[in-house]
Order: sequence, then C-alpha cells, then structure tokens
Amino acid sequence: MDKLWDVVVVGGGNAALCAAIEAAEAGASVIILEGAPKDYRGGNSRHTRNFRCMHQGPLSVLTDAYEEAEYYDDLLLVTKGKTDERLARLAIRTSETCLPWMERQGVRFQPSLSGTLSLSRTNAFFLGGGKALVNAYYNRVEDLGVTVVYEAQVQHVDIEDGTFRGVDCEIAGAPARVNGRAVVLASGGFQADLDWLARAWGPAARNFLIRGTPYNRGVVLKDMLDQGAESVGDPTQCHAVAIDGRAPKFDGGIVTRLDCVPFSVVVNRDSQRFYNEGEDVWPKRYAIWGRLVAAQPDQVAYSIIDSQSINAFMPSVFPPVMADTIEELGEKLGLSGAALKETIEGFNAACRPGTFHGNELDGLATEGLEPPKTNWARPIVKPPFYGYALRPGVTFTYLGLRVDDTARVTGTNGLMTNVWAAGEIMAGSILGQGYLAGFGMTIGTVFGRIAGKEAAKHVA
Ligand SMILES: Cc1cc2nc3c(=O)[nH]c(=O)nc-3n(C[C@H](O)[C@H](O)[C@H](O)COP(=O)(O)OP(=O)(O)OC[C@H]3O[C@@H](n4cnc5c(N)ncnc54)[C@H](O)[C@@H]3O)c2cc1C
Repeated sequence: MDKLWDVVVVGGGNAALCAAIEAAEAGASVIILEGAPKDYRGGNSRHTRNFRCMHQGPLSVLTDAYEEAEYYDDLLLVTKGKTDERLARLAIRTSETCLPWMERQGVRFQPSLSGTLSLSRTNAFFLGGGKALVNAYYNRVEDLGVTVVYEAQVQHVDIEDGTFRGVDCEIAGAPARVNGRAVVLASGGFQADLDWLARAWGPAARNFLIRGTPYNRGVVLKDMLDQGAESVGDPTQCHAVAIDGRAPKFDGGIVTRLDCVPFSVVVNRDSQRFYNEGEDVWPKRYAIWGRLVAAQPDQVAYSIIDSQSINAFMPSVFPPVMADTIEELGEKLGLSGAALKETIEGFNAACRPGTFHGNELDGLATEGLEPPKTNWARPIVKPPFYGYALRPGVTFTYLGLRVDDTARVTGTNGLMTNVWAAGEIMAGSILGQGYLAGFGMTIGTVFGRIAGKEAAKHVA
C-alpha cells in the first residue's frame, strides 16, 4: 500500500475493469479499489444481460446491421434530445470495436432468446449474464498482474490544484491511503444513498427499491462535486422501472422485473387506473412505469390480469396473488374489493370486440374510457384472477461528472490533470433523460477503455 501506483481505479464494475485492463495492457501498474466484498464484486454490472452495439453487418451473435444513424436516432428518441452529441456518437461508434475486444478478454456472447425483448439485431447478450462478464474481466486483470483490493471504500479523492495525489479510504474498516499518478473514477451513481435520493425526489424516494448494488452510494461523486468538479445531469433523473413490490430493498436484480403490465389493468392504492397500459410494446414502455408508479400515493400500484393472460409474458420469480373473484383479489392485495370490482367492470364495459395478438400492437382498444387502453384491451373476466404489487425500482441515477471525449474530468479551472471517469458516474452527459436498453454497458465499456488508455498514456 505504500507504493506509488501508476493508475488507481476506484470501483470494481464493468467500467473500472475495462479501464484497468487497458491501463495494465499499456504497461502501467494498476490497483483496483472495490468497495464491495469479493462475493458482491462487480456492482450493477453483474446484474446486466447485454450491451448495445453498432455494427455494419452481422457481427458475432448480432444479426443484420445497426448503423450509427439509426443508433443515434434511437438515443434521441428516448432522451428527447438531452444528450451530448459528441460523446454519444463516440460511444456509439466505438461500441463496434468493443465486441471483439470483449471476446478477446474472455467475455462470451449468446444469441438473444425470444421473448418480450427482441433485441437480436441491436444488443449482444452475455453468456452467463453480467456475472460471467465480470468474472471474465477479474480473471483477465489477475493475469495482467493488477492488484485488486476488496472492501476498499474510497471516501476522499485528494486533488491539489486539479492534480490527483491519492485516495483516502477504509480497507476492511481500517483507514488507508493509496497514492497514484493517475486515477480513474468508476464508482457508479448515488442511487443506494436513500437520503440523497430523498433530497432529490422528496420523501417518496424512501419507498423506492434499488435494483442493484447497495455499494453505489455516490460517496466519490459527492466528494468530487464538493471539490469543484463540474456536474452533468439532473439529480431527479434516473432509470427506474416498475418491479415486483415484494423485491428486496437492494440487489434484487433482473428477476424482479414484471412484464405483465401491457396485458393487465393497473390501478393505484385507491383502485383507480392512471395510465394507458397498452400504449406501446413493453420494451419501449417499461422504463416509464417506474416514474408512473413513483407518482402514485404510497408509491405503489397493482397490475391485475385474468387467466387468459397469465402465460402471455415471462413468468414472474414470485408467484402472483390469486383469487376466484376480483373482489377477493382486491382484498388479498390490501385494496378495497368493491372499488377494484367497479374499476374492472368499467374497464370491461369499455372493451370492444377484436382479435388479441400478444406479440404485436393489436389495436384492441377501449372506447370512452379515461385513460384509454390502446392495445391488448380484452375484458378481465376469466377466473382465476391474478394480481401483482408494483413498486418503483431504481436502476441508476444520472447526476454525474462532466468529462471530455478522452473521459477526463472537468474541474473549476478546466480539465483536471490526471483524473478520468467512466461508467455510471459520467453517464449523465449522454443520458440526460430516458434510457436505451443496453446503453449503460456500452458507455461503461467505451469510456472505461478510453479512461484506462489515457491514464496509462499520461503516466508514461
Ligand atoms: C438489474 C439491472 C439490470 C441491468 N441490465 C443492464 C443491461 O442488460 N445492459 C446495460 O447496458 N445496462 C444494464 N444495467 C445498467 C448497468 O448495470 C450500468 O449501466 C453499468 O453496470 C454501470 O457500470 P459501472 O462500472 O459504471 O458501475 P457498477 O457496475 O455499478 O460499478 C460500480 C462499482 O463501484 C464500487 N463503488 C461504489 N462506491 C465506491 C467507493 N466509495 N469506493 C470503492 N468502490 C466503490 C461498487 O462496489 C461497484 O463495484 C442494469 C442495471 C441493473 C441494476
């Protein structure tokens, strides 16, 4: 620990590992400070399944082509233009070279499975998921001679006049100092700090569930902002989806997601509908439901289906609540049975004859109902009836550090000399709002690699 390291990497997820590999391959001595214990290493990255990759023709498991213009248009659609075009295009273009690079590091891919998310052209799926990806990268950094320290929680990044000197941290609870010639900050967002979330969102945030690691508490982000690092993004912007209300407070991961919403009627605590459940196909709508549920009383909602729809979506990890009548279902979910019955009867009366097609927009819409349901609106009549409680599940926050196109962090007096950032901690530059599935890992891989290379170049 007394050594002066060439590159200190803060964090142990995808962005950190990509940076460490590049820096070590360039000949730098590298130390990774991962706040989590070894069993929980890999942050949110270990929960992921795929990354979005540009390609001009079939590439590995990816079919057809997905070119820059279409990728960028997809990004503009979800962010409504709130992006940094230069950084976004850099991420998109570089993603094409990332896939073969990832394969060289030991990451394996698989074709996407059929199901609600049909992304075989745009997103490359990791064989074994993010956990296998993270493990492959840890094997690789070990081979490259990188030192990895677990339970190493960085509390302060020591920067004098824009120049990094070292970090103050706690290693397994004991204070420690690690000095270096350059630093890459890859310690994620602040979503696991519920107090910070509550300051940004109000007290309702205490009812949110955090889908990923409890270690991304924004300690390094806050420390950097306190020291004058320039921020990007809005503290109230984040990626949030509606997940099973029975999910654990932290780290429930991907399996707690529910895909039943489009085939259901969704009501709030007062058994009232509040949004069009059939607005679009689920991959294009799932990311808005976290916010919709967050805006309801007690930040809870209930998705109600009948036995016609129970097999129309990916099975849930927890079985749904089941009952023979809507009233009974309402009572079991803690709602007023009578009020739920009235809402469902009102919905059923507004449904029109037509043919239901679960895998496409079928135009089967309600008539005279507010809000309408514009697809998959078939009456909920066939017992047994099923219900799921929904809660907002935060994936990651968007407030971050401003970087340039070499991933270098901007301070009060321009670019800092030897401080780089990658991954969630800077993603807010590119994701001003909204989310494009698979883009989190793209940003982390692209900017992690750039940061690692640049840090090593600086040191050399
Ligand atoms: C359930 C779920 C599913 C997802 N699925 C996908 C997907 O399929 N595709 C996709 O592109 N994105 C997905 N995402 C988003 C994706 O996980 C992130 O965009 C990406 O992992 C960010 O990588 P990162 O390296 O910046 O952060 P992380 O992987 O979260 O790594 C941050 C690291 O920093 C460490 N750390 C935090 N604070 C400190 C500190 N003070 N000191 C030391 N270490 C610290 C943490 O322990 C962690 O190791 C998903 C997220 C979740 C939660």
